[in-house]
Amino acid sequence: MSRFFSEKYRELTPYTPGEQPKDMKYIKLNTNESPFPPCPQAMQAAAEAAKRTQLYSDPECRELTRLTAELCGVAPDEVLMTNGSDEILNFAFMAFCDKSHPAAFADITYGFYPVFAQLNHVPYTEIPLNPDFTVNVKDYLGINKTIFIANPNAPTGIALPRAQIEEILRSNPNNVVVVDEAYVDFGAESCIPLIRKYDNLLVTQTFSKSRSMAGARLGFGVGCKELIADLNTVKYSTNPYNVNAMTQAAGIGTLQCEEYTRKNCQTIIENREFTIRELKKLGFAVTDSKTNFVFAAHPAIDGGTLYAKLRERGILVRHFNKPAIQAYNRITVGTREEMDALLGAIRAIMEETK
Ligand code: PMP
Repeated sequence: MSRFFSEKYRELTPYTPGEQPKDMKYIKLNTNESPFPPCPQAMQAAAEAAKRTQLYSDPECRELTRLTAELCGVAPDEVLMTNGSDEILNFAFMAFCDKSHPAAFADITYGFYPVFAQLNHVPYTEIPLNPDFTVNVKDYLGINKTIFIANPNAPTGIALPRAQIEEILRSNPNNVVVVDEAYVDFGAESCIPLIRKYDNLLVTQTFSKSRSMAGARLGFGVGCKELIADLNTVKYSTNPYNVNAMTQAAGIGTLQCEEYTRKNCQTIIENREFTIRELKKLGFAVTDSKTNFVFAAHPAIDGGTLYAKLRERGILVRHFNKPAIQAYNRITVGTREEMDALLGAIRAIMEETK
């Protein structure tokens, strides 16, 4: 730390992204990326846009916002496009949290929430999950806090039905409830249809997972137009050109390939169900994931040891050094071939540890 670093940030522990090692070729199942390339229209549109980067990108993302709104069945002024969904989550902490609106989220959830809270000097409460990693909805009723719910949750993969989120929305009418739907396209119910019923609902989604655009950084939020206007105030006070021109073009291209996206999601869901079945046969405890990852633990091998042994074999998964989930690994669902390689490696490791 330099002697110049602001006192505001001296206590800040930044988010740790999943490792991206380059020492050998790994099967990468650690950052929940898509195993499929972006659709050809996206790549071509981005390459065309790259020829005009002497110009600023459209700060309003007009065409992309229009198409995203159409996809979601809402109006363009109910949508805000951002640089990954991480950016809209940060905007939400900036816009809707303060000392009289502290944040609340699960104790086991997306690791960026406490970082955003600390960054923005927002007090926060971590609400324990049930021992089986499900959310106890009662813990969220009438709590007078700005609530962040990843649905499906990460790294557990477990989803809440929309009706239960509705209970939380109804019982906290004076606080914003942010529903982070980064993984919703892999089998959970979206809350977007509720945005006109609840003016305190903000739904966030991403192009990183189901639309194979993690490296392009594109996310968005959907909510009533007043919430979106507040988020725009924050956006225009930080970075008006938050979505670059190549990414806007790629996003527009991707939205013209919805069939490709749908097919990829279907393949991931099939590969997930296959992987869960096979892991269970090997004696793993596996959560009921509705995402593009599985969350699994084995009574005979510690999570950190399995992670390290897989890494030696060229397979990267994500292990979290947190007591409640120490036994588990979060494994991204890849192609069927990648899943076969993973299962082969796990079988060999289990054999070894007998
Ligand atoms: N929410 C959750 C629950 C996530 O796991 C992630 C991905 N790390 C994000 C949001 C952010 O994704 P992105 O910024 O790539 O849209």
